[in-house]
Amino acid sequence: MSRKRFIDPFEPEHIRRLVAEFGSPLLIVDCQRVRTQYRKLRKALPGVDLHYALKPLPHPAVVRAIVDEGGWLDLATTGEVQLAASLGIDPARCIHTHPIKRERDIHNALEYGITTLVADNPDEVRKLRPYAGRVALLLRVSFRHPGAVCDLSRKFGCDPEAALELARLAAREGLNVSGLSFHVGSQAADAAKHVEAIEVCARLLAAARRERLGACDTLDIGGGFPIDYTEPAADIGRYCAPMRRALARLPRRVRVIAEPGRYLAGPAAIGVATVMGRAQREGHWWYYLDDGVYGSYSGQLYDHARYPLSAMRTGPLLPSVLAGPTCDGIDVIAEHLQLPRLNIGDLIVGRQMGAYTWSTASTFNFFPKATIVAANRQPGDSGGV
Ligand SMILES: *Cc1c(COP(=O)(O)O)cnc(C)c1O
Repeated sequence: MSRKRFIDPFEPEHIRRLVAEFGSPLLIVDCQRVRTQYRKLRKALPGVDLHYALKPLPHPAVVRAIVDEGGWLDLATTGEVQLAASLGIDPARCIHTHPIKRERDIHNALEYGITTLVADNPDEVRKLRPYAGRVALLLRVSFRHPGAVCDLSRKFGCDPEAALELARLAAREGLNVSGLSFHVGSQAADAAKHVEAIEVCARLLAAARRERLGACDTLDIGGGFPIDYTEPAADIGRYCAPMRRALARLPRRVRVIAEPGRYLAGPAAIGVATVMGRAQREGHWWYYLDDGVYGSYSGQLYDHARYPLSAMRTGPLLPSVLAGPTCDGIDVIAEHLQLPRLNIGDLIVGRQMGAYTWSTASTFNFFPKATIVAANRQPGDSGGV
């Protein structure tokens, strides 16, 4: 990598410059870090096609960076399909993975040219019957994972014991069961659940293939790959090692794909907020920022994440509280922090804030969402909206 050609937009001088130019609150996305994350995961899962799941950070610059690296997309809604279409992305690089779809969602995905769709129950399979000739169907299987920070198998997926019967129904409806998918949940401590799911799905694929229920040659191992927050996560190479061993035991004809979201987007952005006021309460300095849990810090509520926070100033540390701008009492970002004494106008930086932050933000109380700037979209591109 030619270091000289890319800036580090997370360095204080660039943060200040970008806030001066684009205002606050700001989410600074570094496309070079997106590429780095993509390459690291490719290396940790060789031979696995990585479909970026857009929902953590559905920003054109992120999508472009991943596709330009040779990556693929995992779309789940009509809005995400429209975003991919507006960027002119080849639909052959996209799959649609929402297990529950409206008629128009199915129509829009197929119209765009996507062929791989997901279902996890009989009604959803029947919705696809009119398009049988055009659909490569993945059946989503559920693997409950209380150990993951976000369990995604309670709401979606069929029981492994019911998967074969569902595949038979799909075949009877004239659909091609191209394979199975799962999502074991996000930000898990280890890959044990992934390994269990791969092994169970391998047996199910083999059984479905014996019954000639479709091509049965795709295994989609979902997302969930963890990143550092205030607590560090396992190194991705080590995290994926047991998965690599499990995948190596699959028959060669099985194509393996994954749907990483958090891992690609999370470390690639920082949130920058400005102190808009301060007060001393019960021996603590309270600083009121122009971004909070109704904004970029919404991930603290929905995603259970805790972002590393820092001030761009040094000095003796004092017990401090960072609060959001809204009039609601729940809008507190962090208590029990030790921070230098801050002034109104000072900047606070939240790291690892690319995933499930801006995308889940609201404009409650009419406080606008952070502006996004994407730096390093091309070598030498220092920042732009
Ligand atoms: C949210 C989601 C992802 C991305 O999950 P991460 O944990 O962010 O990697 C992938 N696939 C599906 C179906 C999802 O809903």
